[in-house]
Amino acid sequence: MRHVIIGSGPAGVVAAETLRKADPAAEITLLCGESEPPYSRMAIPYLLKGEIDEAGTHIRKDANHYDRLRITLVQARAQAIDTAGRAVDVGNGRSLPYDRLLIATGSRPSRERIPGIDLPGVQACWTLQDARAIVARARPGTHIVQMGAGFVGCIIMEGLLSRGVDLTILVRSGSMVRRMMNPTASALIQRWCEAKGVKILTRTQPKGLSVNGGALRVDLGEGRTLPADVYLSVVGVDPNLDFLAGSGIEIGQGILVDANLQTSVPGVYAAGDVAESTDCLTGKRQLNAIQPNAVEQGRIAALNMAGRPARFKGSFVFNVLTTLGLVSSSFGEWQGVSGGESAEVLDEPRYRYLNLQFDGDRLIGANCVGFSEHVGALRGLIEGRLRLGAWKQRLLNEPAQIMKAYLSAAYDAA
Ligand SMILES: Cc1cc2nc3c(=O)[nH]c(=O)nc-3n(C[C@H](O)[C@H](O)[C@H](O)COP(=O)(O)OP(=O)(O)OC[C@H]3O[C@@H](n4cnc5c(N)ncnc54)[C@H](O)[C@@H]3O)c2cc1C
Repeated sequence: MRHVIIGSGPAGVVAAETLRKADPAAEITLLCGESEPPYSRMAIPYLLKGEIDEAGTHIRKDANHYDRLRITLVQARAQAIDTAGRAVDVGNGRSLPYDRLLIATGSRPSRERIPGIDLPGVQACWTLQDARAIVARARPGTHIVQMGAGFVGCIIMEGLLSRGVDLTILVRSGSMVRRMMNPTASALIQRWCEAKGVKILTRTQPKGLSVNGGALRVDLGEGRTLPADVYLSVVGVDPNLDFLAGSGIEIGQGILVDANLQTSVPGVYAAGDVAESTDCLTGKRQLNAIQPNAVEQGRIAALNMAGRPARFKGSFVFNVLTTLGLVSSSFGEWQGVSGGESAEVLDEPRYRYLNLQFDGDRLIGANCVGFSEHVGALRGLIEGRLRLGAWKQRLLNEPAQIMKAYLSAAYDAA
């Protein structure tokens, strides 16, 4: 059996390792689209802070790991897939035949459509190569203007400030991390960042970028400009799908997969940031671009490829974010549902906030700032869809009793 995996991020690597365990005799080829050993993007913030070196970002630290497992690494990018002929075109007239194929190509930074976005000094923060470029330019006093304050925009701030840069963040909407936080939580995070010396301009979107001497000028409109040595563009991500044109593989926002993570073409699977699967709570289709999801999907897809049926139970939306040392998290349907109830507790001076969302006597979503000790209990209650019974009313009165509520609900469910 010839297994080909396109993409050597966490989904691809875990899939290759799972395949080797499940199918000792198979041929396994892992296509690496960047000229790097397989690495984890999640480690980049630690690299920016100088807490790890590049080797610390590698998914497996032993250089012989892949040879030992007889996983063949091929440095090339997939250009197209011939699903009828079962082969991946990797350019230069080369193609890789397969019996089972996994697409684990992840996502790439979304591109802002403004004049000047191709100028030198404009930088994304997604790959190891991006991180190298940032480290090379981020010196004490370097003016960095960062467009975007989503998950990645927030998690990299600490690394930037640790290098002594002068940091200004532009936020198109009225609030930071608005895809995972309600306005109260977002305002706390903003105030925390401002107290640490970050300038934040909300409802601000550049009109264009131009060269000004050796630096960039960011045009904010109405005569307002900002100088920038580096313009960091972190405005979200899009799944890597370009090479699928003509393959017959069905695409929505990402690659559509079933509960076995198989695509619309038999024998072709997808996992990780690129796959559009279902949410375990709502049953709705969605992308869920977080590493734990990628790892689990890589494992499940590989078992199916090896002929061992396994079902993905659906992805669970949760994010834990550290912004300049402030831990925040969001879970499930944190925006609430119609007819649902909510409870919250806010301690502004101490940057602590907890918001709970209920549907009947089930907790269905939450936002937390500064309450990192509750992360496990919140996840357990929401993902486990545990009934709270009498604990629901107690939580409406005292949301911070979440750990006791979880222990009681988990005990009743057992
Ligand atoms: C700075 C940063 C911090 C993050 N922090 C967190 C965090 O704290 N928690 C969390 O859960 N997630 C975090 N993430 C997100 C997390 O890294 C992704 O969800 C995860 O990497 C997804 O894994 P993946 O294997 O699906 O895709 P990727 O890791 O993106 O891997 C995809 C691989 O496919 C390759 N590829 C793409 N196209 C082709 C092609 N045509 N041919 C061959 N190869 C190709 C790419 O080069 C890459 O190697 C962070 C991301 C960044 C950038």
